[in-house]
Amino acid sequence: MHHTLAYFKDLVVVTAGQVVAETANLPITELSIDSRNKTLTPFPIFFAIVGINHNGHDYIAAAYHKGIRQFVVNDRYNPSVIATYKDVNMLAVTDTLKALHQFTAFYRSKYRLPLLGITGSNGKTIVKEWMHELLSRKYKTVSNPHSYNSQVGVPLAVSLLQPNHEYGVFEAGISQTGEMEKLAPLIQPTHGLLTNIGPAHSQGFQNLTQKIQEKIKLFTSCSTIYYCKDDPLIHLTLSNLYGQTKVLVSWSSLNSPFWADYLVTCKQLADQTTLQITSSTGSNTFVIPFRDNASIANITHCLVYLLDNGSDPAQLQRSLLQLKSIPMRMTLKTGVHRCQIIDDTYTNDIASLRVALDFMQQQQPTKRTVILSDILQSATADGQLYQELATLLAKHAIHRLVGIGPVISHYSTLFPIPETIFFNSVADFITQKPSFKDETILVKGARTFQLERIVQSIEKNSHGTILEIDMHAIRHNLSYFRRQLNPTTKIMAMVKASTYGSGSSSFELASALQRHGIAYLGVAYMDEGICLRQKGITLPIMVMNPTDDNFDAILSHHLEPEIYSLALLDELSCFIAERNTQPIPIHLKLETGMHRLGIAENELDQLIEQLQQMPSLHIVSIFSHLAASQADVHDGYTHLQVERFIKMARYIEKNMQIKTLKHILNTNGILRFPQFQFDMVRLGIGLHGVGVDATIQPHLLPASKLKTTISQIKSVQKGDSIGYDRKAIATQDMTIATIPIGYADGLSRSFGGGKGRVVIQGRQCPIIGNVCMDMAIVDVTGMALKRGDKVIIFSAAHSIDTLAEQVGTISYELLTQIGQRVKRIYYS
Ligand SMILES: *Cc1c(COP(=O)(O)O)cnc(C)c1O
Repeated sequence: MHHTLAYFKDLVVVTAGQVVAETANLPITELSIDSRNKTLTPFPIFFAIVGINHNGHDYIAAAYHKGIRQFVVNDRYNPSVIATYKDVNMLAVTDTLKALHQFTAFYRSKYRLPLLGITGSNGKTIVKEWMHELLSRKYKTVSNPHSYNSQVGVPLAVSLLQPNHEYGVFEAGISQTGEMEKLAPLIQPTHGLLTNIGPAHSQGFQNLTQKIQEKIKLFTSCSTIYYCKDDPLIHLTLSNLYGQTKVLVSWSSLNSPFWADYLVTCKQLADQTTLQITSSTGSNTFVIPFRDNASIANITHCLVYLLDNGSDPAQLQRSLLQLKSIPMRMTLKTGVHRCQIIDDTYTNDIASLRVALDFMQQQQPTKRTVILSDILQSATADGQLYQELATLLAKHAIHRLVGIGPVISHYSTLFPIPETIFFNSVADFITQKPSFKDETILVKGARTFQLERIVQSIEKNSHGTILEIDMHAIRHNLSYFRRQLNPTTKIMAMVKASTYGSGSSSFELASALQRHGIAYLGVAYMDEGICLRQKGITLPIMVMNPTDDNFDAILSHHLEPEIYSLALLDELSCFIAERNTQPIPIHLKLETGMHRLGIAENELDQLIEQLQQMPSLHIVSIFSHLAASQADVHDGYTHLQVERFIKMARYIEKNMQIKTLKHILNTNGILRFPQFQFDMVRLGIGLHGVGVDATIQPHLLPASKLKTTISQIKSVQKGDSIGYDRKAIATQDMTIATIPIGYADGLSRSFGGGKGRVVIQGRQCPIIGNVCMDMAIVDVTGMALKRGDKVIIFSAAHSIDTLAEQVGTISYELLTQIGQRVKRIYYS
């Protein structure tokens, strides 16, 4: 049995159109707008839609030949042509798209069921697919096929609604103002979900606020709206429009209780990601099958919605791990030259490509490249298929297309993409080796094409040099420092400069610290803080070098600026004046003798006066930094600094009638002046188990080990020169080993000329000649070694402090200099 949507007469009434040809009052069982698509039911109706590049009226004949007998046409459609069609119902209207909308709205109005409407910039197709899958376990659910979310896609999708459906999930996408007003009545959602708002497709809108205002018109009919509160503009815009009339349910991944209805904490462990979702009624933890931020945000939307609507958490967890949607097959990999690869070398059809492109848009905004094989097994004729593909790629602002296969190469001229390049086969690609740099690369193709070979060829091959970070050592060191402190003293872990070199972001360390009861994190720059937030770190974070142009981002990511001068405070004051903000947590840095950053004693009155005019500022802490905490010759100076600090902090607290956290100690300060710990200390290098006095060193475990492997062994004869500039001359017949680590990896040139030593098979081997950018040469004379043997640059046994001494620097510098391309491995 085919479901009847309505009858032709209904359509006439709903659209107030004019019947220009009539056979009988036929049922309408299906909507068609594309004569190429096969119709599946006996009474389809063809809407001749006029688009920018195509006119549906040109395809009426084709549709008629396929057996379609009902049409909606433009009222200017030629009457003499109409007369040539026999046994048809033909309705003429002024605007066929509007008629399609009118009919769909009429059809939708017949149903009463819970229906979730989803919109946003990115992720809506994936969220819709997942919601469909998760809801389907309990309800007979209907949703848009693929990403039918446009002005013509939504009507087709809504027409699939049938009386036996119990739940609807429909997405809507728009690219300019005025469009959502038209889509909202077609969907009439009872519940709304806004995924996010990104800068993509912004041309159709004046600004972000307008873009949000337009999109949320979808929710006019909703009782409840779900969204992430971490984008302040979304929160503001939704509250302004719907705060009085609808229930707004929000979630947040920032750790401030009561800030949102659901607090979400994400933890990335070595082998799994967990999401803890807490509301006033309780807390649930889910294991989720992905690690990337976009997927984490997408699944959070789903989980919050379902929990809020009474789903059973245990059941949800089971369903979660069985989600079979396409994006789960996609994996993110690190590519050569700072590329990011989305590996989806499993299927290739337009629908899954749409989802993959959507996923790609959620990644960091970089140049977008698609490597795509021929599309196999499509019902659509090739020419049309590749035309559709070209439009799709252009719409997603793809910058570069690499086509693999004879068919896509044949249609090479169809693609309006800035850069295109085609290969007949994967083998051709591999021999010709096109280069990639700073791109997000989606690799997508049917399995038979074996695009995984392409992925392998552009994946960053693990450079033999590895920095291992022993998380056990970090925990050990943390507890050692904690034992030196009073139980109530808080610890701020300084994770600036990628946590003293330990990671491309400080995330792994920060998340371990978060689990081990650290109170605060300190970073040098806003970017470092944002990176931590994006990866789910919820601890409060102090930013030491804020600037006036990034207050906005600092505050929206719940980072807390350090205010180190009156000028900076002024800038913050200007920033606040332009908006009404929530209380802003700040940290005041005082100048007590370091003479770097800080507010001086003679500026305090002015400081206080200024602060009193800014009631929205919340002074969380007052602090200063010791100039020479490690050196006993300067202990008198340290005491002087502390005295000044106490005096100045008291003055501020007294005059402002506040009580704040106070802190001045760094690693060596903690070890040498525990009496000055106040309320908090700032622990940096000590966590890594280095940089401390020799008497303390035995209590700590150095956490980092930098190692590499021998690339090549050579024999040289007495008198041969070695390396650049012939810097070293062999004084005897020698054996030398080349190691793949150079100054770009952090092995400074000052290690050359025999000054620095590495350890091979327990023996110290001097680095001879000049250190090159990517390599260095080591004297291994007399040793029986082979390519691949392990080389230790530094480790617990071969201390980085000693190494630093060998070349006249400090461990801080060596640690933070380790190149980004050196792979970090964390282990416990
Ligand atoms: C880096 C830093 C610290 C930590 O110093 P360590 O000697 O590494 O413990 C403390 N406070 C401030 C202001 C810093 O910049």
